[in-house]
Amino acid sequence: MEDCIFCKIIKGELPSTKIYEDDDVLAFLDINPVSPGHTLVIPKEHYENFSATPNELLSKMMPIIDKISKAAEEGLGADGFNVALNNGQVAGQIIFHTHFHMIPRFKDDNLHLWPGKPYKEGEIEKVAEKIKNNL
Ligand code: AMP
Ligand code: ZN
Repeated sequence: MEDCIFCKIIKGELPSTKIYEDDDVLAFLDINPVSPGHTLVIPKEHYENFSATPNELLSKMMPIIDKISKAAEEGLGADGFNVALNNGQVAGQIIFHTHFHMIPRFKDDNLHLWPGKPYKEGEIEKVAEKIKNNL
C-alpha cells in the first residue's frame, strides 16, 4: 500500500521506535502515547482493519501483545494495561492498517475509558439475539 504510513514504517521508509519484530509482526511505540510505553502491534502484511485481517494472522499477534504487555509491566512498572483496537472511522480508526494498541496503565494515571449506560428494560435480550442470529 503506497500511501500507508505503517507500510512505510515496515519498509524502513519512515522512522519508528521498534520494540519487537518477527517475520509476520512488528511492534513499535506510538508517537503520541496515551501513556509511556503505548505500543502499536501490526501485521507486516497490509490489511485495512481487524475485520479484513485473516484469523491466522490475528492469532499470531495475540501472544506478542501478551509478551510486550508483560515486558511493560516488568520494565516500566506498569500496574496493568489496556488492549484496544479501533475498527473503522466511526470507532476512531485513523490509520487504515490493522493495529492493536497496548496501553500500559499505572495506578492513579487518571485515564478514563468510555462511559457506560445501562440497557432499558428488556433491551439486553433483543440486542443479544440480533448478534447471535448472525454468528
Ligand atoms: P488509530 O486511531 O487506532 O488509527 O491509531 C493510530 C495511532 O497511530 C495513533 O495513536 C497515532 O498516535 C499513531 N501514529 C500515527 N503515526 C505514527 C507514527 N509515524 N509512528 C508511531 N505512531 C504513529
Ligand atoms: Zn499498510
